[in-house]
Amino acid sequence: MTDREARYNMTIRSAEDGRTTGWIRTPLASHYEPHQNTIGECQVLGSGAVRLIETLPRVCCLDAWVARSARQSTARSTTPSTPERDARLIAYLLHNGHTSPFEQVVFTFELDVPLLVWWHIVRHRTARLSMESGRYHKLREWYYAPSVWYAPDPQNKQMSGEPLDEDTQRACSEILQRHWHESYALYEQLLEKGVAREQARLVLPAWCVFYRGFWQIDAHNLMRFLLNRTDRAAQVETREVAQAIEWLFARAMPVTHDAYTRWRDAQYAMRAELAEERRRGG
Ligand SMILES: Cc1cc2nc3c(=O)[nH]c(=O)nc-3n(C[C@H](O)[C@H](O)[C@H](O)COP(=O)(O)OP(=O)(O)OC[C@H]3O[C@@H](n4cnc5c(N)ncnc54)[C@H](O)[C@@H]3O)c2cc1C
Repeated sequence: MTDREARYNMTIRSAEDGRTTGWIRTPLASHYEPHQNTIGECQVLGSGAVRLIETLPRVCCLDAWVARSARQSTARSTTPSTPERDARLIAYLLHNGHTSPFEQVVFTFELDVPLLVWWHIVRHRTARLSMESGRYHKLREWYYAPSVWYAPDPQNKQMSGEPLDEDTQRACSEILQRHWHESYALYEQLLEKGVAREQARLVLPAWCVFYRGFWQIDAHNLMRFLLNRTDRAAQVETREVAQAIEWLFARAMPVTHDAYTRWRDAQYAMRAELAEERRRGG
């Protein structure tokens, strides 16, 4: 364990989990410094990040809170339980659509992601946002450049398929880099001419501009988000961000995450069956 890991009591994300690296403080309910309120963090999309900033509740294990909340229905919410009974209850709730107890747990993430990804994230209307504004301050020279460029998927029109060959990838990166630098120079020219920041940004290639924002969502809707955005059909960049969010969620609510993975696999199996039926003309 390095000094930094020991100091912050961190768990480092293992390489086989995915492409990003990250850490999380353990245990979550310990007293962490109020000025340094990041609970966990994953790097994404090059210079982007997903940070777990806050959870509700903070006073107890989040999985136990779901179980306690569920026991409200039988007026036994304060009856002592065991982790095993809680785990069985959580799996039952998830597989039977009793979603309210999961809504009692709330996560606030800070996301450093390009507009491309925010475009998908804002569609999840049950989440709440607090976003950086390009009207108050000059936007940084901070843009997303893919490390891999893909060809379109031959079957699914909206998806990426196989990576392009290396020469083409290099040429694509150069095109984007040139476009960004030329656009950013134009942005600065407009600002120098006295144009307001809210209009000067019109010349930037907005899809790749990084924005920072708070994204707050309850555990029930977070699982719905993960189901759809970690799916193979989701945009590759959004999927990487969703996988990092899932990694932090799994560390914050291991029992619920375990039940979630079984529920998700059942949902995916059902989707695959329906797709097969459609293919057969059913
Ligand atoms: C792979 C993929 C491709 C997509 N492609 C497209 C596309 O081409 N075009 C496009 O427009 N969208 C697209 N979407 C977005 C998708 O249609 C949903 O809008 C998005 O995923 C949000 O999902 P949600 O409604 O479950 O989430 P949320 O908005 O968080 O909603 C969660 C639940 O609350 C309910 N809810 C939320 N707000 C309301 C409300 N005001 N009234 C009633 N019920 C409400 C929802 O019905 C849902 O059950 C795509 C999504 C994915 C994952």
